[in-house]
Amino acid sequence: MNQTQVFSFTDGLGIESDTIALDLDAFHRATQPDTRRALPEPTRRSVLVSGGSRGIGAAVASRLATGGHRVANLSRTGVGDAAAGLALTCDITDTESVQLAVKRAATDNGPVEVLVANAGITDDKLMLRMNEESFANVLDTNLTGTYRLVKAVAGPMLRNRWGRIVFISSVVAMSGSAGQANYAASKAGLIGLARSLAREFGPRGVTCNVIAPGFIDTAMTADLGDDRRNDVVKSIPLDRIGTVDDVAATVEFLTSDAGAYITGAVIPVDGGLGMGY
Ligand code: NDP
Repeated sequence: MNQTQVFSFTDGLGIESDTIALDLDAFHRATQPDTRRALPEPTRRSVLVSGGSRGIGAAVASRLATGGHRVANLSRTGVGDAAAGLALTCDITDTESVQLAVKRAATDNGPVEVLVANAGITDDKLMLRMNEESFANVLDTNLTGTYRLVKAVAGPMLRNRWGRIVFISSVVAMSGSAGQANYAASKAGLIGLARSLAREFGPRGVTCNVIAPGFIDTAMTADLGDDRRNDVVKSIPLDRIGTVDDVAATVEFLTSDAGAYITGAVIPVDGGLGMGY
């Protein structure tokens, strides 16, 4: 039942000027904040993840697809969870293969707005045993492959004045790592690449950031023996090896609207392992 109350108003001189009946229920509805009002829908983006067939890339693809984005992931094997979007076969050491994959992603999902350059390889050897082929191959995938991806997606991002680029580097980019001169050099190169792009692309609304994971539980680190694994954990302040979701959550943040004012940053996701570098 409506509660109605009659109010008399007086003007500034104290002379009664008007009388109205007010519907109190309607008045309260109009003046209370509407707690049921939905939050604004996050914008759904066209996302491309390299190296999405397993490990960190698969977790990133899955997390962003679950968040409603239109995701394409690429890898040499071209496998991927169907729920994590389109799985494309592509070798990032081959320029034409990258261009074709980007074209296919754009046809299905729209021009790529978010690039997560995650694909990477290792070929660990001490320097005196590391031949030029091993050095060049790791650089060609991890660093030049990332360059190829950026070249293929940057045009529409810059034209549309919106884009997010995230490179997956490594804690060893800063600390160095015996037996990983090729890998550490490639991952350090990503930082210089990202910071240059942050400066070039920033005025067009495109951010470019680097995530530097520590030890993350994936196929890449599966070969560590138990002893080595225990030694590693001892050196991590948070006392555990990281999960793929630790990295995926950071990618999600950087590529969301909440990450809009972050560019040229190197964000460690390493349990504190790399503190001080
Ligand atoms: P995985 O070895 O599990 O996965 C690597 C991914 O890259 C796979 O999907 C692989 O797919 C793809 N890939 C490799 N080479 C190519 C290529 N030429 N073209 C296209 N895709 C390629 O690695 P992680 O998930 O562990 O690592 C992901 C990234 O994170 C890498 O860049 C790695 O250096 C970095 N990182 C990982 C850490 C860890 O502890 N795991 C720590 C720090 C950094 P396919 O074989 O099908 O081509």
